[in-house]
Amino acid sequence: MKTLPDWLWSRLRALRERLMNFRFRGNGGKRVLVHEILSMQVFTAAIFGGLAIASLYFGGQWVLQDNYSRWALQWTEELNELAAPLYLAEDSEARFRLESFVERYPEIDRVSYFGKDGSTLFNVGSDADLEPVADLGQSRLEDAVELIGQDKPYLLQSGFLNPRQFEILAPVWTESMAEDDLFGFDANSADARTQTHLLGFVGIQLDFMIFHDRLLNNIKGAVLVLMVLIFVFALFGRHVLRRALSSISDLQAPIQELAKGNLGVKFNPAEHREISDIVEALETTATALSERDAKLLDMANHDSLTSLFNRRRFVEELKQETIAVMNKGHMSAVLFVDLDQFKYINDSCGHQAGDRLIRKVADELVRSVRADDVVARFGGDEFAILVRKTTINGAQSAAETILANMRRMAHVEDGQVFHIHCSIGIAMMDGDHLYYDDLINKADIACRDAKTAGRNRAVLYAHSDETLEQDAACVGWVNQLRNALDDDGFELRFQPINDIHTGETTHHEVLIRLRGEDGKIIPPDAFLTSAARFGMMSEIDFWIIENAAKAYAHYLKKNNPLKLSINVSANAFESDDLVQHVREVLDKYDVNPNDIIFEITESLAVRHPPHVEQQISAIRELGCEFALDDFGTGYSSFSYLQQLQFDYIKIDGTFVVDLLNKPVDQKMIKLIAEIGHEAGMKTIAEYVQDAESLALLEELGVDLAQGFFVGKPVKVPRPKPTPISLGYHRLKRTHP
Ligand code: GH3
Ligand code: MG
Repeated sequence: MKTLPDWLWSRLRALRERLMNFRFRGNGGKRVLVHEILSMQVFTAAIFGGLAIASLYFGGQWVLQDNYSRWALQWTEELNELAAPLYLAEDSEARFRLESFVERYPEIDRVSYFGKDGSTLFNVGSDADLEPVADLGQSRLEDAVELIGQDKPYLLQSGFLNPRQFEILAPVWTESMAEDDLFGFDANSADARTQTHLLGFVGIQLDFMIFHDRLLNNIKGAVLVLMVLIFVFALFGRHVLRRALSSISDLQAPIQELAKGNLGVKFNPAEHREISDIVEALETTATALSERDAKLLDMANHDSLTSLFNRRRFVEELKQETIAVMNKGHMSAVLFVDLDQFKYINDSCGHQAGDRLIRKVADELVRSVRADDVVARFGGDEFAILVRKTTINGAQSAAETILANMRRMAHVEDGQVFHIHCSIGIAMMDGDHLYYDDLINKADIACRDAKTAGRNRAVLYAHSDETLEQDAACVGWVNQLRNALDDDGFELRFQPINDIHTGETTHHEVLIRLRGEDGKIIPPDAFLTSAARFGMMSEIDFWIIENAAKAYAHYLKKNNPLKLSINVSANAFESDDLVQHVREVLDKYDVNPNDIIFEITESLAVRHPPHVEQQISAIRELGCEFALDDFGTGYSSFSYLQQLQFDYIKIDGTFVVDLLNKPVDQKMIKLIAEIGHEAGMKTIAEYVQDAESLALLEELGVDLAQGFFVGKPVKVPRPKPTPISLGYHRLKRTHP
């Protein structure tokens, strides 16, 4: 067992060690809060303690000095009295009294008596043999004489640095009654009654060492007590501070965990209110973050409208399934489901009604398949289903079940009953066909085939060589088109459209070409079908609009304005961004919207759902015009012309190619031109290949002509007057 001194010694050594290692900076070179607060407090305590002790010292000095001067007065008076006889006569008794008086007071170091002229007469005291108390110069003597009869009849000198020692100089005098004017005595006049006789001077050296030493000792004690107090205070303060700040230190580890992303971190309840508030805020933050994480994860995996898995998650499931198929050797199937004519409900009842129907279809699809099959929504009205562990027949019957359930399903909106059907493409996954992206593409292709075949049916993707070749070609186009969109791999051509009567070029139609890998120019017929099949048409349309505006802005730098006619597909109208895109592009290139005509096909115009109609009128509001392309093919209904307010009708080329030999076509063109004029529209004939057709078209009332005879497509818009042909003029004359 340790003895008390051993324990104390060990504590002291530990303390010394700590003091030697004391740093304001903790591990990692950071400042330590406890050390900073503590040192600040100790420093403040030391300053105040020091000030208190200094005031104690100077206050004590002041009190002592006050007392010293009282004693000085008293002693001066007494020494004055005691010395007076010695001045008058040699009086050994008086001298003895004087010496014993001085001995009585150890504070009196020496008493020196001087004559009237300042010469030393004798010294008394322990330091009596030393030099006289002061240099009694004439002025000092005069000052001392002045003091006779005053309340404080002495001169006191003390050193600032040595306040315990004093030197006193006082006159020694006697008083006597006035002898010469005894009868003129005035009781009220002191001067009249007494006379003073200066005998000499007394110099007293005082040293209040005892009091001063006592004061100093007290101060030393006070300093020691103060230091001990500060030390104890520092130790205690450190302990208290550490305890107080422990709640903050406790936060350190959980916050580090939080920063690492561990949102399940637990915080200890804090004792202090402020820290408790912080803990609460951190806990709320952690909860909010984990909720947000869960939400993000959910969003990353699920479709927000139906809560079904989204494409990303479906692909994950598909990847897992390929492993199962590979290992266990069974077959699975991917079903691609696209609703038939879904836009109809969107257009007639609104987008929200469409959303309601999509949710209903999602529920129906989930009900139609087995629990471990996976149903996902890819977006729009497209769904995909993974039918696990099945056969071709199994997959087909799963598709039939879905078709049957959808046929039965009725959806009521605004009191109207809607029946929605779907087309399904099936792609089988087996040991030879495992690539998930390929499977989705194949199911998609089969679904499109189901649409083409009349909708409301399921088509199994056949892995025949022919289909493989076709699909490979299609996929090849898709890649090429994607690259062309990303790297501006398209080129534009501008074909003049001339006024039939004047022969002047008033318009240009913008046409697209694809630059092949070998640099060859590919015409649109080769790639537009694939672009439409893979939903790239609107992107291509946007590219054309932007680049046509750019080329036209360039053309305008040196030429007079004309009109540009740009084809826009139905897909571009499906995007809500079309109007915005047109506005931005025209602004960007500072192109007058009045110079732009958008050509839309008759099939799109016929559908004219409200959405398309809205976009058309918004673009018209910008100032652009519209032309109805391919008019006369199939859907012809003149009522659409008025409903959609076109500015131009482009008569389909099939009526023009063999115009001279086909009176029916001539009648048709005449009719279209007449009706167009009635409705305030100009007519444009395409495919004009010779002067005779042109002359006839003019006769039939057509306003504008386009075709190889008028002008072939060129790289930059260039007005090209219609060639004057002798035959043409002859024809004009013979056909009045
Ligand atoms: P088809 O028979 O050829 O499939 O014709 P469709 O009318 O069903 O047209 P398609 O499948 O090509 O287009 C689907 C449409 O669904 C396009 C878009 O207007 C609409 N759509 C896309 N996403 C949503 C959505 O989240 N909610 C609603 N209500 N409609 C959407
Ligand atoms: Mg559809």
